[in-house]
Amino acid sequence: MALNIVSRQQWGAVPPKTKDSLKGIVQRVVIHHTANPRCKDQKDCVSRILSIQRNHMTERGFDDIGYNFLVAEDGTVYEGRGWGVQGAHAKYNNHDSLGIAFMGNFNDDTPSIEAKSSVKQLLQSGVCQGFINPKFSLIGHRDLGSTDCPGNNLYPVLTQLSP
Ligand SMILES: [Zn+2]
Repeated sequence: MALNIVSRQQWGAVPPKTKDSLKGIVQRVVIHHTANPRCKDQKDCVSRILSIQRNHMTERGFDDIGYNFLVAEDGTVYEGRGWGVQGAHAKYNNHDSLGIAFMGNFNDDTPSIEAKSSVKQLLQSGVCQGFINPKFSLIGHRDLGSTDCPGNNLYPVLTQLSP
């Protein structure tokens, strides 16, 4: 299945306050969950993403939505900050990593085959395009700090996401 990526323009993103490029090629990919209820279709997901961006920019004071990409249950990928841009998703670790969030709360939900397959394809494409080091390490947010992110049902299957 071809990867469907919804661009910032398509979901109506607010422009970032500022934008810092990643200094080099990404060495680590950090998987997150949004810890929100999951979304059913594109319309539902877009409104969820707009509210995440609003929360990140106003409540949390970030320059933009924190993640580089988000993936919905149906396998649709939404562009967050995108490739080559430094995110705000894992404190002290943003400078050389990429943040990808599964939409949903994976302490309750189970990641779908579609979402897992899309993330795998996204990582493959990042490696092919030279944004991600082919020898990158794939980790969960909880590996870097005191959080349960990306949830107890997602964390154990991270190895299935390596291209
Ligand atoms: Zn996280």
